[in-house]
Amino acid sequence: MNPADSIQDLQYFGEFGGVNPSISDSSTYTFLSAKTMFDTFEGNADGCYLYSRHSSPSNLYLGEALAAMEGTETSNVSASGMGAITSVIMQLCSAGDHIVSSRTIYGGTYAFLKNFAPKLNIQTSFVDITNLEAVEAAISKSTKVLYCESVSNPLLEVADIQALSKLAKKHNLQLVVDNTFSPLSISPKQLGADIVIHSLTKFINGASDAIGGVVCGTQELIDNLRNVNDGAAMLFGATMDSLRAASILKNLRTLHIRMKQHSINAMYLAEKFESLGIKTVYPGLNSHPSHKEFKRQMNNEFGFGGMLTIDVETLEKANALMEMMQDENLGYLAVSLGFYKTLFSAPGSSTSSEIPEDEQKEMGLSPGLIRFSVGLDNDIERTFQAMQKCMKSVGIL
Ligand code: PLP
Repeated sequence: MNPADSIQDLQYFGEFGGVNPSISDSSTYTFLSAKTMFDTFEGNADGCYLYSRHSSPSNLYLGEALAAMEGTETSNVSASGMGAITSVIMQLCSAGDHIVSSRTIYGGTYAFLKNFAPKLNIQTSFVDITNLEAVEAAISKSTKVLYCESVSNPLLEVADIQALSKLAKKHNLQLVVDNTFSPLSISPKQLGADIVIHSLTKFINGASDAIGGVVCGTQELIDNLRNVNDGAAMLFGATMDSLRAASILKNLRTLHIRMKQHSINAMYLAEKFESLGIKTVYPGLNSHPSHKEFKRQMNNEFGFGGMLTIDVETLEKANALMEMMQDENLGYLAVSLGFYKTLFSAPGSSTSSEIPEDEQKEMGLSPGLIRFSVGLDNDIERTFQAMQKCMKSVGIL
């Protein structure tokens, strides 16, 4: 399976023969017969729409394309990545259940598992996901979910999805993988994941103009999430707006081209930074502790992704460098990722600030760590030369 071909092969027409599917700009739908309305409410009338929190044509088009990309039966799009993550966890776990999660995950997911889920008596053990013995040791009788990111935010640790899937099967757990950092490059379902999540806000949309998420999985899981009586997606209501679904679907059509360029540019910068003696983490570098795992799991043509980190030791130096790079128009000092322009931030004081300082230290998240989402620059060598100048100016080189 090639994930980009799977997207390309989907052919949609608009209502009037348009080359893009029509947007259904309605929150509610009429019925010719009251009986069909009842059946639709019960989920028994395929092809009928009732109310756009349940589903809408535009959301289904986008969901179909994302499921094709991930090779799952179907998917459910949501208003944000967190809307996808929280609804899946709430659907899979009840009071008394336990989760084993990677300790390096997006700060919002970490905060949800650490601070919010315990209010519902759902406990999480955070582990080094690259240490399979530690992962297995953390599994208990009440564990229901094994949770990780294929490439973790912000440390870029790479999960061995095949090995984790074996563990999940052995202990009858659902393996949930957030693939936000590596769309197309990694196909978690093909490697054994049960459920694949994305924040569409990032590479998939690629324009930093929208928030969105998706859960890709079996028809049964998605039906459960959408169940009007006890479905977490349905009842928490983090539904994507149809206009957004339509715009994200259009951007998805160029994802393969963008990912290749993000990967080429990130590889170039990572090699150059490392050759300057800067501590650089990028899954494409031989020095990355999980370089081989990534290589074994990846869909080659899309590369190692657009995310890299450098460690400049102190927050002061990190801030000075980021401010100067922004002044020089080399990118933006901003959180998020997957934009055409390079984005950089210091995760310790931003996107991972939910993680207490001592835990940050333990997992190797230094205050001087800068996370780069490398952009689509046409001349990346020119960008590198200008970045090197900034590094010299602020005393990093
Ligand atoms: N997963 C990862 C890996 C992320 O980086 C983020 C956001 O930064 C999320 C999930 C949450 O997505 P959203 O901001 O769309 O809710």
